[in-house]
Amino acid sequence: MPTFSKFITSQRGAQQILDSDGYIYSRKKSGDTALTSTWRCAKYNPPTKCKCHIYLALADNSLTLGTQPHNHSADGSVPARQEVLLSLKRKAADQPLSATQNLISETLADTAAEVNQTLPNLESLARVVQRSRASSSGSAQHAKATTSEDFILPSKYSDWIADGTFYVAPKIFPQSYTIHSVVDAKCLPLI
Ligand SMILES: [Zn+2]
Repeated sequence: MPTFSKFITSQRGAQQILDSDGYIYSRKKSGDTALTSTWRCAKYNPPTKCKCHIYLALADNSLTLGTQPHNHSADGSVPARQEVLLSLKRKAADQPLSATQNLISETLADTAAEVNQTLPNLESLARVVQRSRASSSGSAQHAKATTSEDFILPSKYSDWIADGTFYVAPKIFPQSYTIHSVVDAKCLPLI
């Protein structure tokens, strides 16, 4: 009989429960009683369609299993992976001036090799960073008016780092493209 292990946060920011067997549950919108909240296995979607439910006692966080068992084994690497992705998102929002690649390298360096193997590829990690920035303060920053002086600015510096994306851009632009340079040993966006 599994017991409550801890609350974790899904990639989309929703609260989830991790049980002592390594299974993860998402909050179900219906079925609560005055004493329990209802959660269903996070793999309830196709292709797994697991029907396992648990009931969390509000008084002491004890778990009661529903009648349906899991139809799959627990993926023990998922909670660790979610934590890595969350920490990457946080870094992206907190350090808007750091290059995407630096944040990813930093995060991967702090993470155990077994967990790194389960992470999405670098391109997807870069999108995690870009999305997190776009949803935090990014759009206001990008949308500032560009003047001709801005275009001269990069010419003062010898190192250019340029990157663009069609995926994440303020709604009024089809694409966002930035040029960074190394200024006083820091990588700063210029345009
Ligand atoms: Zn399940």
